[in-house]
Amino acid sequence: MKSLTNRSKVVSDKKMTFMERIYIPAILKGMSITIRHFFSKKATINYPEQKREFSKVYRGQHVLKRDDLGRERCTACGLCAVACPAEAITMVAAERKPGEEHLYREEKYAAIYEINMLRCIFCGDCEDACPKEAIFLTDRIVASDTERKPFIYGKDILLEPLDPQQRIDISARQTEKVIQFKQNKGFAHNK
Ligand code: SF4
Ligand code: SF4
Repeated sequence: MKSLTNRSKVVSDKKMTFMERIYIPAILKGMSITIRHFFSKKATINYPEQKREFSKVYRGQHVLKRDDLGRERCTACGLCAVACPAEAITMVAAERKPGEEHLYREEKYAAIYEINMLRCIFCGDCEDACPKEAIFLTDRIVASDTERKPFIYGKDILLEPLDPQQRIDISARQTEKVIQFKQNKGFAHNK
């Protein structure tokens, strides 16, 4: 019968030889491959005890930065959410009340700020879009979990601690030129 395609394979049904029937050569061949891999250099490491060196441009867990006085830099303008290609960022803005100037740098702040880490593709667009130097991606790894809910990161996780000793260092991914730009008090976002 003529086949409809040329994808069919002719399967041989020839009788097995004696050596093939006792399987020993095949077992020895398989064992030699196992032994070879047993002594070769491992491709894996014992994470988290051991960690690989990250690329200098690695982008990991975000941080919402405070300014030198400990005030939240984010003004809930929403530009990061608009720039986010994964639509991973949501926020609720609130107005700063008199007496809260030591908490929030601007007249408006993010009462709720959330990033869905399952949607995030760590592109860094939110960092680029932010006019207030408020959000940065860091070299920290987002911890794994077996449920979806823990991956909605709110301010309790994203906002950096008030204690100056526990601030999150974001300088690793910044070039010298960018650091100089961010220290220039001539620009509004650095004041
Ligand atoms: S890194 Fe990219 S995907 Fe993740 S929150 Fe920022 S803009 Fe969205
Ligand atoms: S992180 Fe930056 S861009 Fe996003 S809402 Fe806050 S100030 Fe605006």
